[in-house]
Amino acid sequence: MLFYFKGGCIKGRIYKIESKDYYVSDAVDSLIRCSLRGRFQKEFALKKDKLYKVDLAAVGDYVEFEFNKDGTGVIEEIYPRKNHVSRKAPKIKGASTRGERLEQIIASNLDLLVVTSSVKNPKFNPKVIDRLIVTGESSNLDVAIVINKIDLGLAEDIIELADIYKEIGYKLIFTSKVNGEGIESLKELLNNKTSLIWGQSGVGKSSLLNILYPHLSLRTGDISYSTSKGIHTTVTSVVLPIDENTFVIDTPGIREIDPYGIREEDLGHYFKEFSEYINNCKFNTCTHNHEPGCAIVEAVQNGEIAIERYESYLAILQTIEEDMNF
Ligand code: GDP
Ligand code: ZN
Repeated sequence: MLFYFKGGCIKGRIYKIESKDYYVSDAVDSLIRCSLRGRFQKEFALKKDKLYKVDLAAVGDYVEFEFNKDGTGVIEEIYPRKNHVSRKAPKIKGASTRGERLEQIIASNLDLLVVTSSVKNPKFNPKVIDRLIVTGESSNLDVAIVINKIDLGLAEDIIELADIYKEIGYKLIFTSKVNGEGIESLKELLNNKTSLIWGQSGVGKSSLLNILYPHLSLRTGDISYSTSKGIHTTVTSVVLPIDENTFVIDTPGIREIDPYGIREEDLGHYFKEFSEYINNCKFNTCTHNHEPGCAIVEAVQNGEIAIERYESYLAILQTIEEDMNF
C-alpha cells in the first residue's frame, strides 16, 4: 500500500470504526484515532420529530486525514470506493415502519468475498450461503466458499451441495482448524487481496484467521455479540493488515444478512448459473416465480439448475417483495 503526504494530509485506510471513532492506518500501520468532518454525515428523517444521522465513511475506505496536536486526527477526505458490501440496517425501534431501510456498509474496496460455513455447529446452511453469494455478486465481487470443520465429518449431502457450487464456477475450499486441511489453499487464495470473511457466527472464521496468521490472536468462540440496537450500532467489521498487499476484513458480530438495494428484476442475475437461460423467459420482466414461459423454471424442472439454488432464489425474492409491500 502506498501512503503519501500531501499538503499536511496523510493518506490512510479506515481499519475499524467504534461509535464515532475512526481508526485509520498511517504509513507504518499504527492506528490513529480520527473523527469525521461533519460534512460526511447524512441526515435521514425517519419520523417527523426525529433525525437519524448516518456516517458516510466505512471500514476499508481510503481517506486523507490531518493530525491534531494531541496525536488524534480528523478525516478530511474520503476517496471514491471501488466497491462496497452493505446490508439493510437493522430496524429502528420507534421509527416509522414506512420508508426504506437504510444502507449499512460492511466494508469497502474489496477484491474477494469469502463465504464461510461449517459442516456442523452451526449446521451447513445453503440458504445463508446463497444470501451471502448474492450480496457478493450484487457488489461485483469475486466470491469463494469455505466449508470448515470437516474434521467433524463430511456428509454426502454436503458434498453434493459443494459440487453444485463448484459446477457454477465458485472456488470452494474444505478446511479444518483441527487437522489443517485446506489451510494452505486458503492462504494462497487470500494472498495479495483485500478479502471480506463473512459467514454465520460460530463457523470458525476467527479460528481460521488465527491459524493462517497466528500474530492476529483473535478471540474465538465469542457468540454473545449483539448488533440489533439500531443504526447507531457499530458495524464491527475490522481490517486486519497481513502484509503490504494482503488485508482480511473480519466481521465479528455481524449476524443478520439482509442484502441491501437488490431489485426483484435483478436478483436472477446474482445467481450466476441462471444467466444462460434468463434471456429465454417469455416476459422480459419475468421474476422466475409464477410467470408462464419461464426458462429458469424449465431449467429447474430439467435438472439443469439445482432445485436448492432455485429455492434460495425464491426465498430471497420473497424478502424483497415483503420489503416493498410494507
Ligand atoms: P466465528 O464466530 O466464525 O469466528 O467462529 P470461531 O472461530 O469463534 O469458532 C467457533 C467454535 O468452533 C470454536 O469453539 C472453535 O474452536 C470451533 N472451531 C473452529 N474451527 C473448527 C474446526 O475446523 N473444527 C472443529 N471441530 N471446531 C472448530
Ligand atoms: Zn423467468
